[in-house]
Amino acid sequence: MTTGQSRSKRFAGDTGINVSFEFFPPKSEKMEKTLWDAVRRLEPLSPNFVSVTYGAGGSTRERTHNTVSRILSETTLCPAAHLTCVDATKEEIDTVIRGYHEIGVRHIVALRGDSAEGAGGKFQAHNSGYVSSYDLVAGIREIGDFEVSVSAYPEKHPKSPDFASDIDMLKRKIDAGATRAITQFFFDNEHYERYLERVRAAGISIPIVPGIAPVHDFRKLSNFASKTGASVPDWLARRFDGLENEAETHRLVAAAVAAEQVLDLVELGIQDFHFYTMNRADLVYAICHLLGLRPHTHQAA
Ligand code: FAD
Repeated sequence: MTTGQSRSKRFAGDTGINVSFEFFPPKSEKMEKTLWDAVRRLEPLSPNFVSVTYGAGGSTRERTHNTVSRILSETTLCPAAHLTCVDATKEEIDTVIRGYHEIGVRHIVALRGDSAEGAGGKFQAHNSGYVSSYDLVAGIREIGDFEVSVSAYPEKHPKSPDFASDIDMLKRKIDAGATRAITQFFFDNEHYERYLERVRAAGISIPIVPGIAPVHDFRKLSNFASKTGASVPDWLARRFDGLENEAETHRLVAAAVAAEQVLDLVELGIQDFHFYTMNRADLVYAICHLLGLRPHTHQAA
């Protein structure tokens, strides 16, 4: 059986730029179609991997699994499954991990997660569960030969007292076996630059892949950003000001904003990008095109 990892290498592009795409598991048939349209549109860009999120409180366990499984069996893509420690015993989580291993998944994005009230809520470890992200990373590595990615927060996690605690947590996750960090989205590249300096100064050398969120809906994204600790600069708000009912212009501005952000990061020497697609392909496809990525045609494995 061809694993996703070897497939991703086989189709690697020659631009030096590596991208990955994040999707969320669909709740309805209509959303399922939207997701799969996006997957099919982005697949020829040969991303390094595509990840599928895990709903708060493990609420999408089945749907995440089904989506990951379908990506593995019906596409050439290399899926990474998100997994959190919330509201589950170690045994339950280990069953999920083993299930992924059995179907050929070799990459997990390991997270502590949030309580059922969502981002910003107080996290309470389950009595018989993994106590936090670093514990989950260690558990995953013990179970199988998984690549493990974790989160990182250029503006620090909203519950974190300071940057030092945030970077300590990242170190613990790396000591437990994580080999890549994907950042929370941010709009001001200076946050990422300063964070990268801090992380490197702390002796951390794993890739810290910037998470890029194209602005499909400025109002919704700003509301979400306030819960995740990502700041929304005034200059960004001004760019979208007055475009609430101007879908086409909003889309063009969003493409320009994201292009400016990623191209500035390329200037800084960044070559890996993780896109929060929101299950929509258009903006991400356009930005990838600007990054020099071109579709490859190949047969599904
Ligand atoms: P950790 O890395 O364990 O901790 C984050 C920070 O919080 C630490 O740096 C630390 O400073 C602070 N902290 C942690 N524990 C404590 C404590 N006990 N006391 C004080 N400070 C503490 N959520 C989902 O539900 N499903 C997903 O699929 C998902 N995918 C994500 C993907 C990415 C790339 C990112 C960046 C986030 C994702 N999240 C997801 C959100 C994430 O679950 C939340 O941000 C959650 O609050 C923290 O989980 P974590 O693994 O990032 O935490």
